[in-house]
Amino acid sequence: MRMKTMTKTFFALGTVNKISISYREADEGKVMQAADLVKQMTESMDDRLSVFKAASEMSALNAQAGRGDVRISPDTLKILQASKEWSEITEGAFDITTQPLTKLWSIGESSRIPSPHEIRKAKKLIGYEDLVISGAGNGNGFGTAGLRRKGQSVDLGAIAKGHAADLAHDILSEHGIDEAIINFGGTVIISGRPKSIGIQDPGAPVGTPMGSITASNTAVVTSGSYEKYFIKDGRRYHHLIDPRTGEPAESGLASVTLIGPSAMELDALTTAVFVLGIQKGFSLVRERGLEGVFITDQGDVFLTDGIRGRFSFSDGRRVTDIRKQPQTAGA
Ligand code: ADP
Ligand code: MG
Repeated sequence: MRMKTMTKTFFALGTVNKISISYREADEGKVMQAADLVKQMTESMDDRLSVFKAASEMSALNAQAGRGDVRISPDTLKILQASKEWSEITEGAFDITTQPLTKLWSIGESSRIPSPHEIRKAKKLIGYEDLVISGAGNGNGFGTAGLRRKGQSVDLGAIAKGHAADLAHDILSEHGIDEAIINFGGTVIISGRPKSIGIQDPGAPVGTPMGSITASNTAVVTSGSYEKYFIKDGRRYHHLIDPRTGEPAESGLASVTLIGPSAMELDALTTAVFVLGIQKGFSLVRERGLEGVFITDQGDVFLTDGIRGRFSFSDGRRVTDIRKQPQTAGA
């Protein structure tokens, strides 16, 4: 039976989303239907979650900050609950209430450095403990959520793509599709035969890989300081904010790629690990049983043990030449 491939690309969640599917000709109808469903699901998620849409659940939640709770639909409840959990697990390195800071910096649209006063003011509003969620005790899956203080706001930018990619993967599986690549703005899920995925060289133009990993039936997610940034006086101001300093994280890392079963978990964790830096990040990743590729500002590469056999450098360097663990000396 002849195999065909199809690619569907669409814009949602502030990024380009792409699914590529290999299938037998006879399954064409089913494949097209599944691809349409993925697009619809992602667009409806954008309608519920976007802070740029006045009618979204997130806008309602943020507008009511300090006033009261709003009703939250079942899937939004899930991502909010997960976001709060990841904020707790990472002790606020990933903090779901970072929006006052991300808005202040507006990296990608603005290249203004906010004043220390503005940063202090925005930083005071950060605190995931103030997001109070009441679960789906009523049986219909709906719940409520509220932010305790006026001016606080939630931004799902660091986690929504992961959740959407997981749901897209579920839709494809339900349609019997098992050869696919889901790529939602760098949040990737690979199904079927092993495939090679390039890992961007953080110091080179976009599209230049530093190396690649071979992966199958897993999610692969990267956060890097090369995605959105401006440079001023030799410092790179990027979109991954350290909620503790109120500034773009300067942790010594230039990118973090994580490999594991849940794209949503990896999406939250790549952001957190980037903020935490290599020492703490490396232990967190190992604790959670995940694999990862860490690239420092100096271009040094560190790999977790489980990924060493599946990583190769583009320039022919050997993996056996790189140090096994980040050095503590000088840290
Ligand atoms: P990208 O979306 O570029 O792939 P991430 O998944 O790491 O990268 O998400 C970055 C986005 O998450 C930022 O644009 C911002 O909206 C939000 N964000 C930045 N820093 C944090 C943080 N420390 N905790 C939670 N969200 C953050
Ligand atoms: Mg993320």
